[in-house]
Amino acid sequence: MQFVVEQERVATTQLAAQWARIRGRLQNEVGDVEYRTWLRQMTLAGLTGDEVAINLPTRFLRDWVKARYGDRIATLWHAENPTVHRIDIRVGPSVGAISNARDSLAESLSSADPDLSPPLPMSRGHERGADRTEPRSELAAPLDPRFTFDGFVVGKPNEFAYACARRVAEQPSSPGFNPLFLYGGVGLGKTHLMHAIAWELIAHSKDSAAPVSVAYMSAEKFMYRFIAAIRNQSTMEFKENLRGVDVLMIDDLQFLIGKENTQEEFFHTFNALIDAGRQIVVSADKSPSDLSGLEDRLRTRLGCGMVADLHATTFELRISILHAKAQRAGVPVPDKVMEFLAHKITTNVRELEGALNRLIAHANLFGRNVTLEAAQEVLHDILKAHDKRVTIEEIQKKVAEHYNIRLTDMSSARRARNVARPRQVAMYLAKQLTQRSLPEIGRRFGNRDHTTVMHAVSRVGQLMEVDASFAEDVELLRRMLES
Ligand code: ADP
Ligand code: MG
Repeated sequence: MQFVVEQERVATTQLAAQWARIRGRLQNEVGDVEYRTWLRQMTLAGLTGDEVAINLPTRFLRDWVKARYGDRIATLWHAENPTVHRIDIRVGPSVGAISNARDSLAESLSSADPDLSPPLPMSRGHERGADRTEPRSELAAPLDPRFTFDGFVVGKPNEFAYACARRVAEQPSSPGFNPLFLYGGVGLGKTHLMHAIAWELIAHSKDSAAPVSVAYMSAEKFMYRFIAAIRNQSTMEFKENLRGVDVLMIDDLQFLIGKENTQEEFFHTFNALIDAGRQIVVSADKSPSDLSGLEDRLRTRLGCGMVADLHATTFELRISILHAKAQRAGVPVPDKVMEFLAHKITTNVRELEGALNRLIAHANLFGRNVTLEAAQEVLHDILKAHDKRVTIEEIQKKVAEHYNIRLTDMSSARRARNVARPRQVAMYLAKQLTQRSLPEIGRRFGNRDHTTVMHAVSRVGQLMEVDASFAEDVELLRRMLES
């Protein structure tokens, strides 16, 4: 019995890993924006015989994915797992599906995977979208043709970062602007600005005798290439190549936190380039001083040039961006719809853009106009996720149900473990899923002190790290509450 269960677990894990790799390939093939718009919400529902079932939350998404990506997904599945001959893409809940508890793993695998197997030489053409782009140097990852200064909408939250980027594109290596350090939350335009600088530099120097060589890559890619170079005993070549560029751009530097050897290598490259009067542009999710986990000397040097942040978008900026994007797509989008979107989707530009893209695709597909009703229907799932406000009562109820204890025990004084642990889980989820403060959460759990809540939160966090099945339980509860 034990053995069978174990076998099943291994099979499930393998399936989840295969699914993670397939998602990674898809993301690589279609690009981030398209992936997020259409494919991210796929969940693996299971394997029966030779058929894999995949769930999507709405009919519209199901139809779209089936028509546009169905064959490709089937091919990828068969390549990963030759027993799979058919796929069934259907409307279904994401909760309880195999991949859910491991979704974050899937996400992390999916971005890392293309670089991991096998180590690729530093060369043209293997990255996604290479056909659309113009890598100028042996090192450069492809640039997104849409990420230009023209395509960047400027507003209060990003005008300073934009001005700095422009300046660097016009006069690279000017004192005071080297390195240029751009930081801000996800989806606010860091990568866009970096690519824009690169495009501009390339365009400027196109006709000159010695075109500028620009190398843009994510910190993650930097690391994988470094590791590959070590493995292939070609670190000298790696260093020389890097030190030969005029402009080096490293995106998402926070990835190097905890990766000491790569940091060290980057630090030396950084110094060599700056000393040689070359330009460096770096992005991260935090300012240099807040990037704890990066070596001090590196942080210090990163902060030495110009540091510019991209702030969260304002309503006005979101409206301007929607206008610009709709115009570019050549599809009329009523003001009402834009206002609706700008009110509802406030997290970041990427999500906003994804929602608009989906609306436009829907209008094109069915030959209909974009209307408020269509927006509500087509974006149903996205809007729901944004609208969702989980209450502490709901959390207590779900958790009590799940662990089969009485709801009143959430606020009772009983300290038996079979009651106390679920209560801690509920507190943990209340902290994660609501905006309530610790004292407030404490009050709702039978007037407990905020330190009790704090303890519960860290205890559950610790347990999740060491106990995989407990972690899956908590994760499942979280997803049920969020959906
Ligand atoms: P980050 O690198 O900060 O996570 P990106 O640069 O990838 O964000 O931006 C996410 C998406 O939003 C991209 O498609 C980008 O073109 C778009 N975007 C972000 N800011 C703007 C802006 N100000 N104007 C136009 N598009 C933007
Ligand atoms: Mg980015």
